[in-house]
Amino acid sequence: MMNPIYLDYAATTPMDPEVAQQMAACLTLEGNFANPASRSHRYGWMAEQAVENARAQMAKLISSDAREIVWTSGATEANNLAIKGVAQQHSAKGKHIITSAIEHKAVLDPCEYLSAQGFEITYLAPQADGTVSAAQVQAALRSDTILVSLMYVNNELGSINPVQAIGELCRAHGVLFHVDGAQAVGKMPVDVQAHNIDLLSVSGHKFYGPKGIGILYVRRGVKIAAQIHGGGHERGMRSGTLATHQIVGLGAAAQMSQQLLATEEAHLSALRAQLWGGLQGIEGVTLNGSAQHSVPGILNISFAGVDGESLLLSLADLAVSSGSACNSATMAPSYVLKAVGLGDDLAHASIRFSMGRFSTLEEVNQAVGSVGTALKRLRETAA
Ligand SMILES: *Cc1c(COP(=O)(O)O)cnc(C)c1O
Repeated sequence: MMNPIYLDYAATTPMDPEVAQQMAACLTLEGNFANPASRSHRYGWMAEQAVENARAQMAKLISSDAREIVWTSGATEANNLAIKGVAQQHSAKGKHIITSAIEHKAVLDPCEYLSAQGFEITYLAPQADGTVSAAQVQAALRSDTILVSLMYVNNELGSINPVQAIGELCRAHGVLFHVDGAQAVGKMPVDVQAHNIDLLSVSGHKFYGPKGIGILYVRRGVKIAAQIHGGGHERGMRSGTLATHQIVGLGAAAQMSQQLLATEEAHLSALRAQLWGGLQGIEGVTLNGSAQHSVPGILNISFAGVDGESLLLSLADLAVSSGSACNSATMAPSYVLKAVGLGDDLAHASIRFSMGRFSTLEEVNQAVGSVGTALKRLRETAA
């Protein structure tokens, strides 16, 4: 059987071959393998130079200073460091945190943890299009609010939050603003200066870099408590020997994404339009998320009147994500889709198509065909 068509780029991307090549050059004795913290020999200096080069590449992608980049193992760790780090550092000022109900678990779980430690969390309900407005944040702000944490782009819906306006509001109220940028960075312009972001989480494997590496951008002057202690790397904010190969891979991915940004946005917009154009005419098909404020790589669609599990089974030639999340033994409907107003059945009968750098028009056309055939068959057997 042929491999299914990969339409799950929001879950992870394959590495760009160029990235893999640069990483491979950082592994063996002949390569740049040393500990970047080794100050007493040439091997160490070379590794440090590679790390600092990657730091500059990463910083450039988000318009920050290289000294504001803290390497982490990914966006999950970056979110933990940002949220717990701010909470622990600033608890004397207040214990109130604002987030939304449709954040990634890597934000919701740290918030839940803090809630058990005596912090108070406000979970804003998203609007029907999957975004949170600045007015909603404003209404939730209190004198003891220390942090607002919201995602730039929702990983299930593709909806884009008005980050710049929310950042402006937070700045005016002296409240720190953390943004989970895992689905935005490398895919759309993200500028920590212009968008008033204090802390930004980034994940390498969401934009053609390696898994197991990411960053937390920490604006100069912002104090956070370290979560991993042991040697004081990364200006004391995140200890541990720097993974040269991972870091070099992330730097290369950042540089490539920056160069390809405009081309890729156009490419993906065309594919998304083709996909939506092919599916929207089908009876019972609705778009989840925002038609206007959305990244071009993600299209989330519900199919009314069909069983979600049967739908996914009959789309075996497509590697896509469904609106069901595996919660231990049972399949639970997506909490994101439920929060934007979908019932259980419709949430289960939803599919997230996510396209990327290597997706083609032929693949999208084939996906349209598969969905059409599957729906026809499912509705015939149901009738
Ligand atoms: C993938 C993702 C994460 C987790 O990133 P890792 O680097 O895999 O830990 C966090 N938030 C969002 C929005 C994501 O899409």
